[in-house]
Amino acid sequence: MEPDGEMKQSKFRRICVFCGSSRGKKTSYQDAAIELAQELVSRNIDLVYGGGSIGLMGLISQAVHKGGRHVIGVIPKTLMPRELTGETVGEVKAVAGMHQRKAEMARHSDAFIALPGGYGTLEELLEVITWAQLGIHDKPVGLLNVDGYYNSLLSFIDKAVEEGFISPNARNIIVSAPMAKELVKKLEVFSSENKRIPFIFLHRICTLP
Ligand code: AMP
Repeated sequence: MEPDGEMKQSKFRRICVFCGSSRGKKTSYQDAAIELAQELVSRNIDLVYGGGSIGLMGLISQAVHKGGRHVIGVIPKTLMPRELTGETVGEVKAVAGMHQRKAEMARHSDAFIALPGGYGTLEELLEVITWAQLGIHDKPVGLLNVDGYYNSLLSFIDKAVEEGFISPNARNIIVSAPMAKELVKKLEVFSSENKRIPFIFLHRICTLP
């Protein structure tokens, strides 16, 4: 809800959230997963995620589901045994493998957000950034930088710009904020600006793989 009590209709129907299969040591990471879930629910946004109930993935999916929004878990068949991922809430889409999972998650979403996480989260985040850079999609990519968790990644990316490996335009693909509410607002602005300026990148190569 907005301060005036009115329900704000988001530009996004569904957001894909990448996040840790662990909960992390600080409770602030878990709190951030719940806050992001509440933000999605309050804006009538459905969730797309990696399936399962472990770690931050479990927290956000259960909170969005409990809040009455639709949840789609995209999960490779090999990860489906419950001891690997736990119980999945909402709709489960079984896919053949990790590559198909990422393509499916992207296809179903209007934007991406990464919460804190490990290798899996980083890999998913960097792939959608790379796809944006190549013009494969023009969906906004947000980084929820809880307690500065991603400061060192952002510094590294700034270094890569400085050293000429990432263009300043491509640096702007990443929208970051420390709090869920601010991040979703920034992504909405990014999305409108992106639609006004036909496309900031040179080539729109193809549709999603
Ligand atoms: P990580 O950040 O390494 O914990 O990996 C989290 C991301 O990788 C999630 O967004 C999932 O898509 C995927 N992932 C990693 N481990 C699992 C698992 N056991 N079950 C389901 N997905 C997983």
